Amino acid sequence: MDYIFEDVIVKPSDAPKYVLDGVEIDIWSEPYELHHSKSISEYVKEKILEYDKEGLDPFHEIVGKAVEKEMVKNALLSASSVLFVGKKGYGKTTFSKSILKLLPEKLLAIKGCRIHDDPVKPACFSCKKKVMEDEVVELTWVPRKWIRVPGDPMMTTRQLIGGISIQKIKEGYELDHPEVFTPGRVLKANRGIAYFDELGSIPSALQTMLHELIEEKQITTPEGDIVPLRIDALFIASTNPANYRGTSDIKEPLMDRMEAVPIGPPESLEEEIQIGLKNMSLKDGAELPEWHLKIIARTVRYGRMKDKCRYAARIEVEPSCRATIKLFDHVRAAATRKGRKAVMLSDYGKKFEVMKLGLRSRMELDYEDGISKDEVIERLVEEAVNRTCGEIYSGILPDEFPPMMEELSEAGEISVYEDNPREFTNIWKQVIILSKTPNQVESAFEIILEAISRCTGLVERIGDGVYECKA
Ligand SMILES: [Zn+2]
Repeated sequence: MDYIFEDVIVKPSDAPKYVLDGVEIDIWSEPYELHHSKSISEYVKEKILEYDKEGLDPFHEIVGKAVEKEMVKNALLSASSVLFVGKKGYGKTTFSKSILKLLPEKLLAIKGCRIHDDPVKPACFSCKKKVMEDEVVELTWVPRKWIRVPGDPMMTTRQLIGGISIQKIKEGYELDHPEVFTPGRVLKANRGIAYFDELGSIPSALQTMLHELIEEKQITTPEGDIVPLRIDALFIASTNPANYRGTSDIKEPLMDRMEAVPIGPPESLEEEIQIGLKNMSLKDGAELPEWHLKIIARTVRYGRMKDKCRYAARIEVEPSCRATIKLFDHVRAAATRKGRKAVMLSDYGKKFEVMKLGLRSRMELDYEDGISKDEVIERLVEEAVNRTCGEIYSGILPDEFPPMMEELSEAGEISVYEDNPREFTNIWKQVIILSKTPNQVESAFEIILEAISRCTGLVERIGDGVYECKA
């Protein structure tokens, strides 16, 4: 039975009878031959080349990140492990999950195996014995898998790798006895993806064992026996450089086995908006017109611009895309609760409470001295409203502006909820340009007045949707 400590590879000439769902099958014939024998990395390579040939993006659900996508494909094609480096909330986990679709949808595995062993090259003791000694080996289909390994500083060897004991075999335990073999998270990822979330937080002694498993394809048991373990998994990891303080670093030999791909915030405002819309949970309710999408996304982005926005200089933990996503939800929720067709400025709250709701827990100041977090948020929103209104104001042509002001001056006081914008012929032209749907008319009317107010001072906002002309 010494073969259980060696690599076992079954050839067609000395194979047992393989049975799937009660029927004997020839696993080396179609359609079964595509679902065993190959390594995960081989499957991944084939799939990437297939996508490349068709000119398709395997990660199309990820917004932007063109360079990062290329680097990931390149690394995977070279059979490397990938380490995503970046702050939380920028999609490291989403990226790792989208790699899953490069794996075959299902694989053939030995039935009952806790690590879904390949029928021709099993890794666990009990499956090696089955294919070597049994006349019939039952198989089953297993779906592709993505196993998250949390970066827990308290993680034990048993949780990460599992329990493996040659001593127990010598004592006469059955090969599939839990004392002999119990797979931990990493072994459960056999023939799938193992995603190490915060790899640097895994205790360094365990990182050494991981390195042994990935690189040497073996594991040293607590009794000191070296057991060969041909685990075949795609190793993807993530790390947040901001978390290094207080947690153990990633050990150098392990670092040396991974290609680091930085994952930062969305590069453009448009990408930020797209990510927000794609991931928000409220799929209907009040409409979010483009100007409000811009104000919200800009508020978050200004929070990251330490060099451009003076209040952002005080922010130590910056708001991620999760802030954008939640703010889209919160503002839509506030408008929907009031029965609105589209979002209005007052839906941000009198003192932007709705924006604070989505931002307070997602950013930290260096220290709260001189200015509070709430005040910083108010300034960020103000900046974003100013910028967006400036854009709208500069969209008005010079000869269009005087007749607009004449109309406003005649009216004196205007309520966007009560007055009919069609009665302001020249303003109406601008409302039509902005509104994407009839539902957005009121909101467009308001933002035009707000833009004139902020950029010229010729109109003043005196209440919710109410403006007074001062010219
Ligand atoms: Zn097995």
